[in-house]
Amino acid sequence: METKTFKTTTLSRLGYGCMRFPKIPNTENSIDVDKSKALIKLAYEQGVNYFDTAYTYHNSESEKFLASALASYPRESYYLATKLPVWVTKNLEDCKTVFETQLKNLNTDYIDFYLLHALDKDKFKFVKDNGVYDYLLEQKKNGRIKNLGFSFHDNYTVLEEIVNTYEFDFAQIQFNFVDYLFQNAKKEYEILTNKNIPIMVMEPIRGGALANSELSKDSKYNLVNLAFRFVASFDNVQVILSGMSNEEQVKENLNSFSNLTPLSEEERNTLNLVRDKFLKSKVISCTSCNYCQPCTKEIVIPKLFSLYNELLLSSNKKAFLDSYPTFAKTGKDCIDCLKCVNHCPQKLKINKLLKEIDSSYTYLRGAETP
Ligand code: SF4
Ligand code: SF4
Repeated sequence: METKTFKTTTLSRLGYGCMRFPKIPNTENSIDVDKSKALIKLAYEQGVNYFDTAYTYHNSESEKFLASALASYPRESYYLATKLPVWVTKNLEDCKTVFETQLKNLNTDYIDFYLLHALDKDKFKFVKDNGVYDYLLEQKKNGRIKNLGFSFHDNYTVLEEIVNTYEFDFAQIQFNFVDYLFQNAKKEYEILTNKNIPIMVMEPIRGGALANSELSKDSKYNLVNLAFRFVASFDNVQVILSGMSNEEQVKENLNSFSNLTPLSEEERNTLNLVRDKFLKSKVISCTSCNYCQPCTKEIVIPKLFSLYNELLLSSNKKAFLDSYPTFAKTGKDCIDCLKCVNHCPQKLKINKLLKEIDSSYTYLRGAETP
């Protein structure tokens, strides 16, 4: 297992994401304890020492399960990461209650890596308005939190606000070979690196979507292996999380992380081709039938979808950036009335797609600005 130094500790490059354990058949979230314990044991014994759970994972079963799975190992031999979901709280007192519950769930008196979970603009506002950061800092001073961080899902301008407001020991972002070039990941990486904030990576293969059978079928390479090595090649990436659900995945990942050699040119080219194929598969299947027109807010939906599809197919960012502002109304004007959705024969989630396009525009515009 390859490792990397974090302050005075040595972390495995592979972290066990504890949100996709095998489940008991016909249950929504109940963890199959025996099967899952065997996976944790295999990973731990082969050098994985970073375990990333959350209060909400597996219907709030994940933390307790993880504690039981690691109970026979010395506490100092592994590192626990868990997260505070401010959206289940109403105020600071609720946050305190959640934190105390998490210590009990994990059967520990300290948490190695504690994250504000899935920060976005609204959740960060809650954190600021309710003094949550100061409370967590106090817990850090008391030794109950060793490292304080956050996971993140929003536009990079929000990320800038977060890291310019408070100090953090680490951050967790979605980062992979598709998001690096097409979504916010490159910019987010740069913002965090400029602030000297080490990065824990989530969704290195987007829950398997970047290495599915369709994308893999013509490749002589193991795409999962290439995807991990792509992410691992960035200096400021510390731990790469993978939510492993079966023995085959654990063994395959252990194998990848035993030798994270840099990608060859041919391997990089392969990832570029896979990325293009993946993006093309994301093309919006709008037929320009116009049944969704007129939109309540006068958004010219089919033309926007057509413009976005051109971007996916040609990667011509300039054409997209030049044309998008010429639309008087876009996704940011959508009020989610769903009138269009109810009329679309392709059953497209039009309101959501419009907002995704708007986010892409905001990101690409920012990324193109020197
Ligand atoms: S959901 Fe949005 S895009 Fe659709 S009709 Fe309403 S305002 Fe227009
Ligand atoms: S109804 Fe659906 S398929 Fe037709 S133009 Fe509108 S979004 Fe496209």
